Amino acid sequence: MIELVGVSRGYLGGVMALREVDLTIGYGELAGIVGPSGSGKSTLLNLIGTLDRPSSGTVRIDGHDVSTLSDREVSALRGRRLGFVFQQFHLAAGVPVLDNVADGLLYAGVARRERRRRAADALARVGLDHRLDHRPHELSGGERQRVAFARAVIGEPALLLADEPTGNLDSAAGATVLALLHELHSHGTTVLVITHDQDIAAGLPRQIMLRDGRVTHDSGTPLAVRP
Ligand code: ADP
Repeated sequence: MIELVGVSRGYLGGVMALREVDLTIGYGELAGIVGPSGSGKSTLLNLIGTLDRPSSGTVRIDGHDVSTLSDREVSALRGRRLGFVFQQFHLAAGVPVLDNVADGLLYAGVARRERRRRAADALARVGLDHRLDHRPHELSGGERQRVAFARAVIGEPALLLADEPTGNLDSAAGATVLALLHELHSHGTTVLVITHDQDIAAGLPRQIMLRDGRVTHDSGTPLAVRP
């Protein structure tokens, strides 16, 4: 699903956020990228999420060398195969929960009525079928993240990227969101969780540690999911 070979990313000012990273994550894995603030986690997530390109090295996502794709092809890969969940939820303010989730299918060529029907199903799966008409500001943080999760998975992505998904949640709400990620993985989706929280990482089948832009430890692919 993910293959990085010799990937470096430098920024203006001479910061090397990633240095010669090699990383392979197979289809169906659930892995955590762990590291302190500034270690390069967001930079790595942006590259894997096709939101950014490396200074050098190769990023291959779902078999595609991202550097060889046109902007339109990259957008199609992102829209059809990837889902994102962020610490800050990123829901549209003032828009009902049902439409926030339905909009996750806006570019998938699905008619509005069908988008809304599937959104209602997705919200029922995260236990929010009684909140369809609420606006995001009327929900708790944990509920908002469940809405964001429903929106991320409504298009049935092959890879879900979760960036500090429990960072703004209390431990009970965080546990609920982690359980959703585990459930998604159990149904075959590849899930990558970015976290600075060692306890969260310890609960994942594979941990990849980043420090100063390098992978300093990788617990490796568990045997059960080796392709
Ligand atoms: P993390 O997500 O682990 O906190 P980041 O990937 O955000 O780490 O940052 C890694 C390093 O790259 C840090 O030193 C950070 O200051 C630097 N950095 C990140 N984004 C930029 C940018 N757009 N311009 C310059 N430096 C950046």
